[in-house]
Amino acid sequence: MDIDTGPSIATLRQTLQTQLRQHSENLTVLAAADTDPGSIGEDPHTIAARTVAARHAIEEITAALSRITAGVYGRCERCTDPIPGARLEILPHARFCVPCQPRER
Ligand SMILES: [Zn+2]
Repeated sequence: MDIDTGPSIATLRQTLQTQLRQHSENLTVLAAADTDPGSIGEDPHTIAARTVAARHAIEEITAALSRITAGVYGRCERCTDPIPGARLEILPHARFCVPCQPRER
């Protein structure tokens, strides 16, 4: 696995694991807030939106960690080109290179 000038896989894995932990903790707080709205000073819509976002992030991060385990991390899922290290540094769970990135909602 060669990543051009970017961070090493070990660094990225660590970043992903940190992010996974943060999102999981977030989800715990949000789940508690769901039964006690106001405990984090957010309205139910915001709590629901943040819960969806946190779950989505956890899915993406978990998938990225599996790709590291499988040895296919850092390659675009569409064109199979290596994803530039600079991009992975900003978005460690990136599945696609910039040209292949589907438009977000
Ligand atoms: Zn691509």
